[in-house]
Amino acid sequence: MGILRNHLPLALVLLAVGPLAAWGNQGHRTVSDLALKALPPGPRNWYLGLEGELAEHASDPDHWKQDRKEGPRHYLDLEPYGAPERLPRTLEEAQARVGGGYYRLGVLPWIIQDRWRDLVAAFRGGDPAKVAFSTAILGHYLADAHVPLHTTLDHDGRSTDQTGIHSRWESGLVERYLEGSALTVPSAKDDAAILDRPWEWLRAAHALVPQLLEDDRAADRTSPSGRRGKSRTPAYWVMFWDRQGPVVKQQLQSAGQHLGDAIVSAWVAAGRPTPAPAPPAD
Ligand SMILES: [Zn+2]
Repeated sequence: MGILRNHLPLALVLLAVGPLAAWGNQGHRTVSDLALKALPPGPRNWYLGLEGELAEHASDPDHWKQDRKEGPRHYLDLEPYGAPERLPRTLEEAQARVGGGYYRLGVLPWIIQDRWRDLVAAFRGGDPAKVAFSTAILGHYLADAHVPLHTTLDHDGRSTDQTGIHSRWESGLVERYLEGSALTVPSAKDDAAILDRPWEWLRAAHALVPQLLEDDRAADRTSPSGRRGKSRTPAYWVMFWDRQGPVVKQQLQSAGQHLGDAIVSAWVAAGRPTPAPAPPAD
């Protein structure tokens, strides 16, 4: 891996750039809803009447990408660091391992840590609107860490002639089929190791990449190659959902569960505060 130390091969860098939506609006809203359902009363009270705010701002960070520093906050490419268990734990370590190009390989786990600390500060500050907004932003990045194609250099299947797989998986399947799927989450709990978890979530998501690509290829074989344009055939979608639907649901549920745990942990770290009673309506 010596070649990666100072310069990433150009081909890899080119694969790593490009637009990333992540989960689409519906997926991000689903994660917020699941997390709220998982909360015990103490932290849940902070969001009373603000549930819509949480869903409303769940996709905000995807609209901040005119800032060139924003894109890499939504992913971490695992391959340049070797085996998934050898991921760097600090930005300094990332830079020491791969050189100055480290930022373009993604900084997602560190952004999750920063946004979680923002949520702790919001709980301490006592303003439920700020708690809701901080939660929405944390929830966005946390959910992105559960998208398999946010953990790999080839975000969009370009090297295997599967361009478009990114949105077919995280938006195409979600928008076509998620409604009506029964999603559940266990009760959220305080997790003392919450700041270590992003690396585990990324590793788990990364392990799902090969099968996801294989299932896309298999679904494509249902249609004559000339008809595999931008829009896939109904037969493609039926087969892709049949194979990857359980994975989409599992990743949304685990993102909802982990966001619930992150909220409870932030609330505990802030000293289990209670929101001030709402001012009386005139
Ligand atoms: Zn995103």
